[in-house]
Amino acid sequence: MAPLLEFKNVSKIYNPGKDETVALDNLSFTLKEEEPTILTVAGESGSGKTTLAMLLLGFISATHGQILYKGKDIDNLRGKEKVAFRKEVQAVFQDPFAVFNPFYTVDHLLEVPINRFKIASNKHEAREKMNEALTAVGLQPDEILGRYPHQLSGGQRQRINIARALIMRPKILIADEPVSMVDASLRANILETLQVLQKDYGVSIIYITHDLTTAFHIADSIMVLYRGSVMEAGGVDEVIKTPQHPYTQLLVDSIPWPDLNRRWGQTDLVPSEDSVIGTGCKFYSRCPHAMDVCKSRPGLFQLEPYQTASCYLYKDKPELKTEALSSVLPV
Ligand code: ADP
Ligand code: MG
Repeated sequence: MAPLLEFKNVSKIYNPGKDETVALDNLSFTLKEEEPTILTVAGESGSGKTTLAMLLLGFISATHGQILYKGKDIDNLRGKEKVAFRKEVQAVFQDPFAVFNPFYTVDHLLEVPINRFKIASNKHEAREKMNEALTAVGLQPDEILGRYPHQLSGGQRQRINIARALIMRPKILIADEPVSMVDASLRANILETLQVLQKDYGVSIIYITHDLTTAFHIADSIMVLYRGSVMEAGGVDEVIKTPQHPYTQLLVDSIPWPDLNRRWGQTDLVPSEDSVIGTGCKFYSRCPHAMDVCKSRPGLFQLEPYQTASCYLYKDKPELKTEALSSVLPV
């Protein structure tokens, strides 16, 4: 059976030509329907995380490679298959306010997708679906339904966004920095809700973040992106407790572990533009271990059953094909 989702050598290049940006560079991974999981995609601002989300949702097309949903290229989905894809692949974005129209109540926000995707056959059933989804994300339907956006907190809004996705009974939920704009004290709790949904509803979650601490708490596996390339990937335990790539080590070293709420990577780790070596390791100019060999692009070397790093420090380890990345991602 074809995997639920397959990225096959996917690249996204914005403005191809002299001023091009390679936002995602030859990424391959799969998610299986029978093995729901939480996969974190981590990296600093500009590493290609949102591009990955937009590609997966079909909002933008890949420049190279293919994205397959249940074995079919998502660019070629038509009719019923396209509707099923739109329903089964849901997203929650950073801004909990974005999808709210100030003039409509929460009920309306939830009714729109219920009607569009014919989720319920009558008003009573629609109400039941709303109640169930709101309860599942930790809200009291009676307190929430009938309210206007300004009567809700940011945390409540983000939970409603998750409920709205959940009503569709998605198979994949892509959450792009879902709690970075939510009050710090509520973050852990909302992320735990995602974890519950993964277990109770069998939905695979792609959790996009620049925050390794939350990834460590909720995810099974992690891919660390830098300038669109996977630097390191594997189980969250392996990668975050014993990072092997110099870039991941830098990220982990910069985590102030006791304070789970600081945002890393946005101020003190900004790459300088002149540092890119077109054909070499993307981390070359910032790497304390940079060697001559790093002027050519390293492949992925397998360090542990669930850990791989794209770095010549490990050139004596077996090389892992790009296409086999998912074999080191535990579910
Ligand atoms: P992240 O979500 O990790 O911050 P993005 O996927 O938003 O990263 O961006 C990756 C790279 O692609 C960045 O260098 C960004 O400036 C560039 N980029 C993103 N969107 C566009 C676009 N529409 N046009 C041109 N460049 C873009
Ligand atoms: Mg982003």
